[in-house]
Amino acid sequence: MIAEVDPDPGEWIGRLVRIGKAEGFPSCANVVRLLANLVRGEEEAEALLIRILDHRLELATALARDPGLQVATVDFLSNVEALLRNPKVVELAQFEKTMQSATTDPLTGLFNRRHLTRIGEREIARCRRHRLQFAIVLIDLDRFKRVNDQFGHRVGDLALRKAADCMRKTIRDVDVACRYGGEEFVLLLPETERLGAYVVADRLRIRIREEFQGKPTGDSQLNLTASGGIAVFPQDGRELPILMERADEGLYEAKRAGRDRITLFHKERRTHIRYPLNGRGDIRMHHDPSGAWTLVRGVDISYGGMLVETGQQVDRDTVVRFRLAKSSDPVADPWELQGKVVRIEEPTALTRRLGVALEQPIPDTCLTDYILGGRPAAGESGGGSYL
Ligand code: GH3
Ligand code: MG
Ligand code: MG
Repeated sequence: MIAEVDPDPGEWIGRLVRIGKAEGFPSCANVVRLLANLVRGEEEAEALLIRILDHRLELATALARDPGLQVATVDFLSNVEALLRNPKVVELAQFEKTMQSATTDPLTGLFNRRHLTRIGEREIARCRRHRLQFAIVLIDLDRFKRVNDQFGHRVGDLALRKAADCMRKTIRDVDVACRYGGEEFVLLLPETERLGAYVVADRLRIRIREEFQGKPTGDSQLNLTASGGIAVFPQDGRELPILMERADEGLYEAKRAGRDRITLFHKERRTHIRYPLNGRGDIRMHHDPSGAWTLVRGVDISYGGMLVETGQQVDRDTVVRFRLAKSSDPVADPWELQGKVVRIEEPTALTRRLGVALEQPIPDTCLTDYILGGRPAAGESGGGSYL
């Protein structure tokens, strides 16, 4: 459309607006950005384009030939409207190459840290406006210094490229992967909550391990692994630096706990977050030394406790035991938990809800298995949620 000669301005702009509406993107804003690298809202961009097209007609009349959209734009924006003071004319392909080198990391081809900051700020503004969530995953390769020391920087760089390939293969089209620093990477996952981010990060961790385990990198056997931490907007922070800090705390925890793992929760947050079970899973309770194990309905679960619904008569302060069948492997030994009834709600005449404080916090593996197990994970890439 930009290259069309002598178009009818009204028809041209109408067509552009219709394309944008049909495809669901801000077409006028995109054209203004493409033409002049100006960032405008859709309405403002449409008004600006109409004025540029009018100006083009004026020029065409004076010159007795169509100057084309680009020339009309430069003249309008620099001589009529003064929005450009010092424009430089450059071939589009050349410009895009320059832009790419400004936003990507040359070694891995992932986005660079500066670009992540820009995208992160934009994502925060979008999520504030539409009340959405997004997640940050910080990934750091384990014991990478050793790789360099033992095998040299050339192999180290090769490993970084392989790790980046794993990331590209793991994320959806809407996600952003960036090389944050040396052997640290960040994934920005729009419209993704904590568990979804965990699923992606853990899938990536496994992919990295499989990529390096038993397979040579160059001529060397590296057995490289990765660790990661997660932060979610807005629960963990409402600013990018805070979110990065939270993700880094999770990463530190993963390293401390032995590496080759992703930390899902932060210590100070873990007891507060409750996950709805809505009756999912096979949970059995035992509350009477002479009684049997009975099936209960799980309402929600957190690190420190569970809320279950039962028809049984159970008093406050009763010590109860639970068996949670593994949702990833129902025939394996169940998870065993023990706690004390600290709260009783009576939602109906026949059932009561028991709030149980657990003696030991639920292990990471149990919680993630239990809340994630049985849920279908989304495909390798493409749109949609991870859960
Ligand atoms: P940890 O498991 O605690 O993360 O151990 P680590 O050895 O990975 O420790 P740390 O993250 O502190 O060290 C990062 C090392 O990564 C330092 C440097 O040797 C290596 N490194 C960083 N950037 C590059 C790079 O661009 N190329 C290569 N080849 N190596 C790099
Ligand atoms: Mg590091
Ligand atoms: Mg490291």
